[in-house]
Order: sequence, then structure tokens, then C-alpha cells
Amino acid sequence: MTESRHSNPREDDSGFSPAAAEEVFKRGLVRLSIAAAGVDPLLDKRLQQLRAALRSDSPASEMAELLPELERAVLAYDAEREQRMASIASYLSLLVEQLLEQEPPPETRKTLKSIRARLSGSMHYAASYYEVLEQLVPAQAQTLNKGTVSPGRGGLLSRLFQRGHEPAGADGEGLPGDEEAPRQSAVNASVVHPGVISDEGANYTQVAAHVEGILLDLLNQLEVGEHQQSLRDHLKLRITAGLNWYELAAVLDKLSQLILLAQQSRQGDFERYLQQLNERLAQFQGNLEDTHSAYNGSLDAGAELEGAIRDQVEGLHEDVREASDLNSLKATVESKLNHLLEDVEEARSVRQQREQEVSQRLAVMVERIQVMEVEAQAFRKHLEEQRERSLLDNLTGMPNRAGLQKRMEEEYERWQRYGGQLLLAVLDVDHFKGINDNFGHLAGDKVLRLIAQQLSRRLRKSDFIGRFGGEEFVLLLPGTSPEQGETVLEALRSGIEECPFHFKNERVTITVSIGFTDFRQGDELDVVFERADKAMYAAKEAGRNRLIRA
Ligand code: GH3
Ligand code: MG
Ligand code: MG
Repeated sequence: MTESRHSNPREDDSGFSPAAAEEVFKRGLVRLSIAAAGVDPLLDKRLQQLRAALRSDSPASEMAELLPELERAVLAYDAEREQRMASIASYLSLLVEQLLEQEPPPETRKTLKSIRARLSGSMHYAASYYEVLEQLVPAQAQTLNKGTVSPGRGGLLSRLFQRGHEPAGADGEGLPGDEEAPRQSAVNASVVHPGVISDEGANYTQVAAHVEGILLDLLNQLEVGEHQQSLRDHLKLRITAGLNWYELAAVLDKLSQLILLAQQSRQGDFERYLQQLNERLAQFQGNLEDTHSAYNGSLDAGAELEGAIRDQVEGLHEDVREASDLNSLKATVESKLNHLLEDVEEARSVRQQREQEVSQRLAVMVERIQVMEVEAQAFRKHLEEQRERSLLDNLTGMPNRAGLQKRMEEEYERWQRYGGQLLLAVLDVDHFKGINDNFGHLAGDKVLRLIAQQLSRRLRKSDFIGRFGGEEFVLLLPGTSPEQGETVLEALRSGIEECPFHFKNERVTITVSIGFTDFRQGDELDVVFERADKAMYAAKEAGRNRLIRA
């Protein structure tokens, strides 16, 4: 065999025949193409074709045909990769900017700045991003005041979604009976790989406008400190631009952070106010002590003057007793009287000066008290406003469940003390879900507002109405007999039925079912409520759009 190899005329210097060399090239190409697999779908396809051609020993001409396609795929992938790297760098820079705005601790600020510098330079390799992220994650945690990063804990929503996968009670948050709960909840099941539209994702798009409205409302009402305003505006912009299912999670996460920060800063305000008040009171007390000692000083001065006068008069007595001639006595008495006058005059001016000081101090104190009173009043007013706002429903502007509860207790107490007649009615909109489904949640909201308007308009001043929740309202009618109540509530029911609602140019009839009852001897409040509620359900069972008295 060795002989025939030596005699082969096509053998080269290295001892390889062209066929063997071609084999090595082909194998090398196959390996190389495997190494490049998985970076881009189009590239993968072309490489697969190339491998197939190499393995099946296709003629060179067929392989040459594949090469331009492969070249195009490589170039396209390369351009896309560059672009993607650049946009990752710019998103990361944005993130770093946002963190810098949050006033991180000095060490972290330094790290963030070095990351920023690095991002603005050249970042050609994916590994560079890995290194940047490795630095960025702890820096973000330190900026957001968390100190340490606990691995595997994502944002609020992801934590909620992942509950099922964590060992029960891992964070001490597990509820009793959690163990029995199915590991994979409905919400959990909805977490799918991005790019796959889940059922929940599709459902979400139906309520997106509603959710966005609520979030915007919440953001508008949220009082945030100066430092958080840009974050709030940013969130508002994102929500206004519309969110998909995945963006919602990120926005909720940010929102929860914002709410925590806002709460902390409000607490800080309150603490600062108390601190100020404390300082003012201390100052005030100091003033009071000064005034007191000035007053005591003036008492001392009076006693001093009295002593001086007594001394002078005693001296006069002595002089009179011992005087031998009238002229010298006259001169001595005159000089003593002059002294006396001077003493009195001096005492008067000292007293006048002290009095002036005291009255100045008093004036300063009065002024401070006035300022404090004004501040305390403003603060009280603010608290009062907040308290009132917490009792109102955002959507309809009428009392919410908390407001309703408060009023029900008050009316119940009045009824217990003074007796008389009192009615309670529960009202629920019929097939309201259908309105949401057919015309959207915003239309549903509008219906609730219109119904609230109708109800408020048709009731007496002494009557009370509140939104119990969802599409359910509760009415209290004091001084009304069941027969009168029947008439009033029936008029309400028919009034709403006749109300001209229009959606998408379509006339829609909206009806309500009402149950009501009177307060009877020995009734507890919740018993009355349950009776009315049951009557309302009976009205539903009986075909809806009707009034039933319990
Ligand atoms: P029924 O006649 O038996 O009362 O039927 P229903 O559809 O009115 O009752 P259901 O309790 O099945 O549905 C109530 C719906 O009201 C479900 C919920 O989405 C909707 N809803 C609750 N609160 C609001 C709200 O503030 N705005 C809107 N648009 N819809 C709401
Ligand atoms: Mg209903
Ligand atoms: Mg209901």
C-alpha cells in the first residue's frame, strides 16, 4: 500500500491526497456550522442545508448554489445582532439613568457611573452584557434601599404568580390551609412564555382600558414627593400609551414601589411637622420662663426701692434728732430728699424698661401662638379632607362601603334611641355583566355613574344612598313606613327602567332588582341587612326588574 501512495502523482507535499484534504475540510465545516447553531432561525436553516449537502457528498456545484444564501443569512444576522446589542446598551443606559435619579448611596453611585461609562463605549460581546448585569443587579437593589438581593425573587406580580412553586410558607407568608391549595392556581397557569398569547392575555385585552383607567386614577390621586414625580409621570405615560399583559406586570411592580415611597415620604412629613411643633413648644416654654423671671425681677426691684426709701427716711430721723442748727439740718434734709427722688426716679425707669421687655415677649408669644394655630388648623383641615375622601367612591362620587357602614351605624343608633320608622333597601343592577361584555367596561362604568345620579336625584334629603360594591347599592329611608317605601322604591325602579341609555346608537334598557325591609323591634343591624339582601335575591329569582318587601 505504501508503495502505491508514493507512486500517486496527485499527492501533495504534506502527504495528503486531495480527497483526504477535502474530507478534513468538510468535517471542519460541519463542526463549525454546529458551533454557530441556535443564534438565528434563518441562519440555522441555511446551515442545516449546508450540513445536509456536506454529509450526502453532494456535487460541488450544488454546494456552490447554497453559498450565496448562506452569505446573505450571515450578513443579515450580523446587522441585526449589532442593532440589538446597541438597543440593549441604550435600554441599560436608561435604566442606569433612572437609578441615578433615585439618589443612590455614594458607593453605588460610583458603580452606576462606571457602568454608564462602560455602556457608552464599545460592547461587542454578549459576555460584556453579562458582566454589566452582574454589577447592575446589586447596584439596583442598593439604590432601591433593599440592601441585598435575594435570588429568585422577581417583582411583585411575578412573586404572586410564582407562589405555587415555592415551598409553602417559605417567606412566612403562607396562609393556614395553604398546603391544601392546588399548587398550580389559575393565575399561575396563565404565566406562559412571552410570545404565546394565553387565554388570560386575551381576556386581559378586553379589560385593559378599564385597568388602565383605574391605574391612571390611582396615580392621579397619589400624592408623591418631589423625587418621585418623574417616576409617576413616566408610569402615567406608559399606561396612557397602552399596556399589554406582560407590560402590566412591570408597571404594577413599579407602581407598588412608588406607593411605598409615597407613604414613606408622607410619614416623613408628619414626623417633621411634629418635630417642628416640638421645637416651637420648647421655644414657647423658654419665653414663658424669661417672662416669669422678668416679672420676678420687677418684684425684686420694688423691694429694693422700698428698702432704699426706708434707709433714707431712717437717716432723716437720725439727722433730725441730732441736729444742732436749723441751716445745716435744712441742707442735710434737702440732700437726702434729692437722693430719695433720684432713687424713685431710677426705680421707675428700671420698672418701665422691664415692663416694656415683658410686653415685647408677650407680643412675640402671641404671634407665635397665632402662627401655630393657623398651621394646626390647616393640618386638621387636610386630615379631615383625607378622611372624607376615604369615605367616597371614586367612580360615582357617592359614599362607598366604608361611608355606608358609618351612616348605617349612625342611623341604627338613632333608631334605637328615638324609635320611629326606618327602611333599608338593597338594589342590584340586572345582568350588568352583559353590559360590560357587550359594550365594554367603560360603558359599564358610565351606567353605574348614571344610575347613581338617577338614584340621588330621586331621593329625599334625609334619605341616604351608598355604593355597597360592584353594581350594588344600599338605601336608608328614615321616617318612612313600609307602604311609603313601596311607592318610593317602585318609582325608583320604574324610573331607571325608563331611563334612555344609548350605546353604539342602540337603545339599551337597564333594570334593577330591589329588596327592602323595615327595622323591627329587637333587630340587629346585620339581621336587617341580610333580610333586605335576601329579598333582593328573591326579586332576581322571580325574574328581575322588580321590588320585593321582606
Ligand atoms: P344579576 O342580574 O344576577 O345581578 O347579574 P349580573 O351580571 O349583574 O351579576 P354578576 O354578579 O354576575 O356580575 C356583576 C358584574 O359587575 C361583574 C363585574 O365585572 C361587574 N362590575 C363590578 N364592579 C364594576 C365596576 O366598577 N365597573 C364595571 N364596568 N363593572 C363592574
Ligand atoms: Mg347584578
Ligand atoms: Mg351583584
